[in-house]
This record gives sequence, C-alpha cells and structure tokens, in this order.
Amino acid sequence: MPSNKTQIICPLTGRDPASMKAAMAAAADAGADAVEFRLDYLDRPPRPQDLQALLADAPVATIVTYRPRCQGGRYDGPEGPRLLLLQQAAKHEPYFIDVELGTSPDVWPQAAIILSFHDFDRCPPELAKIVASMGKTTAAVRKVAFAATAAEDFFQALDILRGSPKPTIAIAMGDMGLPSRILARKFGAFGTFASLQEGAASAPGQSTIEQLRSLYRWDSIGPATQVYGVIGHPVAHSMSPAIHNAAFTAKSMDAVYVPLLVPPGADNFKRFMDALLARPWMDWRGLSVTIPHKENALAYVGESNCDELARKIGAVNTITIGPGGKLRGDNTDYAAAIDSLCAAMGIGRAGLKGQAVAVLGAGGAARAIVAALTHYGASVSLYNRTLERARSLGQEFGAKAATLDSAVGADAAIVINCTPIGMHPNIDMSPLPRIPTGVRAVFDTIYNPIETRLLAQARQAGLVCVSGLDMFVNQAVAQFEIWTGAKAPRDVMREVVVKRLTMKE
Ligand code: NAP
Repeated sequence: MPSNKTQIICPLTGRDPASMKAAMAAAADAGADAVEFRLDYLDRPPRPQDLQALLADAPVATIVTYRPRCQGGRYDGPEGPRLLLLQQAAKHEPYFIDVELGTSPDVWPQAAIILSFHDFDRCPPELAKIVASMGKTTAAVRKVAFAATAAEDFFQALDILRGSPKPTIAIAMGDMGLPSRILARKFGAFGTFASLQEGAASAPGQSTIEQLRSLYRWDSIGPATQVYGVIGHPVAHSMSPAIHNAAFTAKSMDAVYVPLLVPPGADNFKRFMDALLARPWMDWRGLSVTIPHKENALAYVGESNCDELARKIGAVNTITIGPGGKLRGDNTDYAAAIDSLCAAMGIGRAGLKGQAVAVLGAGGAARAIVAALTHYGASVSLYNRTLERARSLGQEFGAKAATLDSAVGADAAIVINCTPIGMHPNIDMSPLPRIPTGVRAVFDTIYNPIETRLLAQARQAGLVCVSGLDMFVNQAVAQFEIWTGAKAPRDVMREVVVKRLTMKE
C-alpha cells in the first residue's frame, strides 16, 4: 500500500473486465487509494489475460477478492477453482488478496493476505473472539464486517479499531453503520470501502468516494478530530451533515459531523446515548436531534440541564457534550424562528410584545414557535385542521384556537405557516386562499421550496416575507455557536442549503 494512512478502497463490481478497468481509472481519479476487484461480480471467471489486463500497471493499489456466496459474495461454485484463480491472480503481485476466515492458511495464495469475516445478519456476540483469533494468523490485515441492527452497533467496530495492534478494517454495515465507515480514519483503520457512484456499492451502507471526501471531510479527519452528529429517523436526507461540515471546513476546524440513525423510541435513544457516553475517547462534542427524538433528548439530558424554552417546549434539538460527558440541552428552533422573523421585520425580540400573530398548524414546529412568541408577549391565535389539538396547545401557552379554514379571516399582523401545506412536491398548494387583510409579514417555515406558494402570495401583496430557509440556517448557526463558541460562517452555511435545494429541484 502506498502509505500508512487509512486507505479509501473502492470495490469494483463491473460485470466484465473492461468495465472494471474503466472503473479503476475513474476510482483513481476520484481519489481512491486502492481498488478491490470483486471477481465474483464478473459474468464469467476471468481468463489469465483478463487478470493480466486488470492487475498489470494499475494506477492504484489493488486487492483481489473472489467472495463465495456463504460470505455474502456471488461465487457459488466449488472451492478448488476459486482458490486456484486466486493463486493465478497472486502471480501478478497485487497488493493484497482477500481470503475468508476459515480458509486454511495451507491453501492461501503466496501473497499478502487480508483475512476477512462477514456477518450480514447481525453483530455476532463473539466478535471480539473472532477478531482476536484473526490476529493470531500470519495475515497482514484482518477485516470484519457485520450488519448493524441497532443504532449503537457501529461503536463495536470502532472499539476493535481502537484496540488493534495489527492493521485492521472493521465495518458496521447498513445505514446504522455509516459512522464506522467515516470515523475509520480517526481510529487508524487500515481502510474503508467507498463506491464510485450510488448503486455501485458492494455492501449495504457504503457511501461514495465523493460523499466521503466532500460531504464528510475524509481528507482532514485525524486522531484528534472532534465528532458531532445528527440523531434522527430517518436521517439519510438530512441537510445537517452538509451544513455543519461546510462550516467546519470554512473555519478550518478539526471536526466532523456524521448522520446517526436511531430508531424511534425512548429506549433506543437511551441505549444509543449510553453507548456514546461510555466512550469518551471518541471526542463527541455535540449532537443535533431531529424527529422523532426531540422529546427523548429532553428526558435524557434532564430538564435541569436544559434552557428555559426547551423545557417549556418539551423538546431539545441540540445536545452539547462537555468535559466528563456533562450534557446540556438547548432548543435552537425557537430562537431561529423568531430571530428570522424579527430580522425580516426590522424589530428585536422585544418588538414582538403585543403583536397579533396567526399560527397555522399545531404540531412540533408550531409548539416551538408559539412557546417563543408567547414568551415575548405576542398575542397568538392558532389555526389547525384538528381543532382539538389547537385547543390543547392554546391552553398550554395562553393562545386562542380555531380551525384552519377560518384562518383567512384572522385579525393578525403576522401569519406563520407551521403546516406542510405547499411543501415539495405539493408546491402549488397554499394553506390560505388569500392573505388576510391587515397582515404585514408572512413567515412560512417550509424551506423546500425556498419560496412557497404562500410566500409568493405575500410577495405579490408587497408584504415582508420570511422563508423557512432562514429558520433552518439560523438553527444550525445557533448550534454551531453553542458547540464551538466561535462565530458561525452563516453565508457558507446558507449557500450549502440553497445549493442542495436547487440541485434537487
Ligand atoms: P407535525 O408535528 O407533524 O405537525 C404538522 C401540522 O401540520 C399539524 O398541525 C397538522 O395538523 C398540520 N397538517 C399536516 N398536514 C396537513 C394538511 N394536509 N392539511 C392541513 N393541516 C395539515 O410537523 P412539524 O414538525 O410541526 O412540522 C411542520 C412543518 O414545519 C414541516 O412540514 C416543515 O416544513 C416545517 N419545519 C421547518 C423547520 C425549519 O427549520 N425551517 C423546522 C421544523 C419544521 P393536524 O393536527 O390536523 O394533523
């Protein structure tokens, strides 16, 4: 291998040698340090000249793998020809040949060996023993890959890397295992696997080389890198990794932000957080929390460790992890929302006092906004499809309640939409047939699209318009500043979101 840093290994899963060779060149261009020829993906076994074409003069380090079906591969023939082909490949002196645990060292090819173990069903309880037994062999590198079936499983892959005296690859597969692939470099793994493009992954949960390098800051991850993440379910399409990693890059900070898929339920949240806090050596510094865990976050952190409005709202979206694992909980949604509104209206928070505000919706977003508005003395009326829900929220915060269809007659200076009506893909819909008379400002919490139908109505009427984009960026800005104590690069963060939203449309 070219150096002792953690290698990005790109599996090549083409169906013929020519397409594998082309993919090797593309992988090298994309920044892969090594490629893994998955010979079991080829439509037919490679001929000697195919091996020659693939392995001679390769632009990057090469690994040859011929994985049998019982280890998650596609080869389902007898062992003899499989091992013979690996012996033939070894003659071309690839950097490594991968053989599966259980293959007798007597028949290993004469080559540097990656000894591998796979469990596609679960994280085996005897994992540590398996890894230890692999360490006793003469294989140069040991590799374990197992399916993460619980949110906290990926920690076990990192535990293995951390204690490893021998070059090791340890991967938790699947969406819940992604952090093990990104953080592999922090813990000195021999390699991590990343595909050339989406759809070309050789195992569940593999990201692309491009995502690893540009979204997850691969090239700047090192042993001292601080770790942040977003806990949610789902979390794959969250824009938070992009926005926070861009901020870390802009500020030249040694930090990385990863997606943390935690299934719904207070128990799942607790198990995950307990496992995270049990590993202070991982350098966790902060967590964003999104649906469905904001209430669980408040309960876990404890009300006395949360800011006043987070307690009132009953939800925490920001956890800060201090020295000794001391936790603090904040809710940056409310401040983000009202500060976006106040900035657009040219007033401070105190200027909300006495303002008549019509809030459409009575869900989680409405709850945070109503708590903040009433805290600063606004007079709030809630309009919701389900009247009962509006009434119950209204009672809690001293706001009036009515049905959504009566909102068009609201007597308000400010309208705030906290329903998803008008959100992508239903962009032609608006929660209001027209803007009520007397309204001066309209705030739509939706950020996709950036200008909703409701905001277009408001713009045409010459009113102050506030997009959910401002709220989204502001909540991330506030999180960044709480965690790091540094001023957030707001423009960079906004640009990232706009770019991703316009790319999608
Ligand atoms: P939620 O807890 O599920 O609440 C949704 C609310 O919208 C409920 O009041 C619901 O009424 C109402 N609603 C849903 N579909 C409706 C429909 N077809 N017609 C009429 N009313 C409908 O969701 P949430 O977390 O509050 O999020 C609401 C919206 O806020 C999201 O869609 C998102 O666009 C926005 N948001 C933005 C940010 C940001 O940073 N910009 C952050 C969070 C949320 P019922 O009570 O009758 O079901």
